[in-house]
Amino acid sequence: MRALVLYGPEDLRCVDVAVPEPGAGEVVVAIEAALTCATDAKTWRRAAHPSLGPLPARFGHEGAGNIFAVGDGVVGFSVGDPIVMANSAPCGICEWCRRGRAGLCPDLVYLNGTYAEYVCVPAAIVGANLIVRPWDMPAHLGALTEPVACGVRAAERSVAGAGDMVIVLGGGLQGQVVCGEFARRGCEVILCDPHAERRALARAMGASRVEDAPRTQADCTRLRAMTPGGLGAHVTVAAVGDARVWEDAVRLVRPGGEVNFHGGPAPGDAVHLDATNLHYHEITLQASYHHTPQSVRTALARIVESADSFGRLVGDEITLDGVSDALRAGGVKRIVRPTRTRTS
Ligand SMILES: [Zn+2]
Ligand SMILES: [Zn+2]
Repeated sequence: MRALVLYGPEDLRCVDVAVPEPGAGEVVVAIEAALTCATDAKTWRRAAHPSLGPLPARFGHEGAGNIFAVGDGVVGFSVGDPIVMANSAPCGICEWCRRGRAGLCPDLVYLNGTYAEYVCVPAAIVGANLIVRPWDMPAHLGALTEPVACGVRAAERSVAGAGDMVIVLGGGLQGQVVCGEFARRGCEVILCDPHAERRALARAMGASRVEDAPRTQADCTRLRAMTPGGLGAHVTVAAVGDARVWEDAVRLVRPGGEVNFHGGPAPGDAVHLDATNLHYHEITLQASYHHTPQSVRTALARIVESADSFGRLVGDEITLDGVSDALRAGGVKRIVRPTRTRTS
């Protein structure tokens, strides 16, 4: 079978490897659709990520397909089942797992290798984060389960309720999902992004208002003026891993409000915050990373519920040969069809 293997920074090769055979507790999935991801773009450039392991390494972490083979002792799955899966599984017993913070589990077992015709799913993921999807759900929508679960998880951390105002900075996939989650709680969401098509998408996800991304202090002041009493939003979310955006998120929150830093910054990035503002206004700062088995299940339910809106979060189809170019270009998620080749 054909599979993408990362050998070093920006060195991703399509190689022929044996179709995996499932060990005890494992399942082999025939990938129908994988998705490119901003995390993959970063990992491709740096050739390093906590989930990747030593190089050369199989690549790609978002995908869905059908069960091709089932290992000894697997229950609840049969050959041919259409499935979705998350790219990790927590241990379920450590301090963080027991406190509902499974994304921080120090023993996460990761899945890599969805940019391939087949992938072997580790037993831990079969047990915790492999789910049969509805028969009529297209694989590319199923493959959204994992990234959507991260956005669901970000919103889960907030206590915001109906009538509260939320400002989301960044309209990439994470910002869109967060926007949808707060909108369905009855919050009034303002999503800010420099791209008109992302602002249009946010409308479809439930934003009550969309604005250009703030670039100056004056832009932040103008945004604040749109919030109740001009005092800022109850919740702000920095859905971009950019220190400047994180600082804006703190400028835009109202006294007593909460800020969520969602989106991975580069190693060593620092933010400058006004300590007086944080103290005298009791600002809650929190961050969100990864997902939990619960948010994975919620994500799948959301995609089933709003298939049309979520379908707009992915772009056109490419083959394995096109993944490097797609990661270089960035932008919208692309649907990777591993069984197709350029010539077929
Ligand atoms: Zn991803
Ligand atoms: Zn754990």
